[in-house]
Amino acid sequence: MSSAAKRHMGRVAADGCAICRRIGYGHTPAEVHHARDGVGAGQRNSDWIVTGLCPEHHRGANGVHGLGVRAFERTYGVTELELVAETLERLYGAQQ
Ligand SMILES: [Zn+2]
Ligand SMILES: [Zn+2]
Repeated sequence: MSSAAKRHMGRVAADGCAICRRIGYGHTPAEVHHARDGVGAGQRNSDWIVTGLCPEHHRGANGVHGLGVRAFERTYGVTELELVAETLERLYGAQQ
């Protein structure tokens, strides 16, 4: 993994959980989740196609890995890639 990707993943984790933010829980400590879109079973997406999710929304019963991606997206009304885009906009959108 490149040091730039490592730095990016650190920023994403520090950004907090993307779902908690959307549902009004504010900033909660997050893990880095790789969006599954566009990759086959057993493969992992680019280290740039990531978003922050708290342990519950990541690996818990109400999380993306607990529910599965499609059910997770239905439950929270947002796609993985939308969460990735929102994360990138928060982290880098203000930079010119
Ligand atoms: Zn969360
Ligand atoms: Zn994950």
